[in-house]
Amino acid sequence: MNKVIIWICSLLSISTFAQENFKVYYEENENGYKIYANNGEFCPVSVEIDFKIENLSSSIGDIKIIEVPAQTTKFYIADLTVIDRRKALRLGFSVRYNHGNHLQTSFDKDYAYHLPFKKGAEYMVTQGYNGTVSHHNEYALDFKMPIGTAIYAARDGKVVLVEQSFNKTCTEQDCAKFNNYILVYHSDGTFAEYTHIKKGGAKVQPGEMIEKGQHIGYSGNVGWSTGPHLHFIVFLQRFRDRETLPTKFLVGNGKQITQLEEKKKYSKSY
Ligand SMILES: [Zn+2]
Repeated sequence: MNKVIIWICSLLSISTFAQENFKVYYEENENGYKIYANNGEFCPVSVEIDFKIENLSSSIGDIKIIEVPAQTTKFYIADLTVIDRRKALRLGFSVRYNHGNHLQTSFDKDYAYHLPFKKGAEYMVTQGYNGTVSHHNEYALDFKMPIGTAIYAARDGKVVLVEQSFNKTCTEQDCAKFNNYILVYHSDGTFAEYTHIKKGGAKVQPGEMIEKGQHIGYSGNVGWSTGPHLHFIVFLQRFRDRETLPTKFLVGNGKQITQLEEKKKYSKSY
């Protein structure tokens, strides 16, 4: 090979987690190059890799989406084989990535979620699915509750991210960047986010397995919020967006399962 041009671009990444926790890289060998990924996150990460290569043959084609398992180093992605050793070659690729399996479409639609507060309590859903205040085209639920109310896990899972450093509140959408939250990965590939928790209000940390009914933190009024509440969503992550999903909850004594409706109060005695 008389000339090798190499470039790698990850500027297209729009992930919500730290860049150093996910990396795609190459190693040279006698036939060309092997491409690998490291994933330091506590859930799978999907990466779309888009090759710009000359005089190299890719084992996975020009562009491909691959799911990299949680907490993996040197996960094999592809072989790039030199076609003609006498000619110059060019190795380049761009990547974008985010949590979850972006090709996933099926999930447990009938899962019976627990209400995310303690036994004996009752709270109103002040904004429901596709609510007109801030839930446009979103299957999200707002439980009105005073700052400092204990939040309980609605489902078993693994904590992926915790943001609890913010203290700022405002009513503009732009303030969503100041949201505090607990992000949980479920066994069927969906995620739950418990949002607006108070500053320092998480009782769990990334990497921890949690069980439904476990006390995981305290509610607040932080970020894009018009009053103290818990915002709860379940979703499938896509590269750019979250595809929120409708959920069913056990209510009352725990023998009824229902979709929660706006302006109704729900009690938990299970
Ligand atoms: Zn909300």
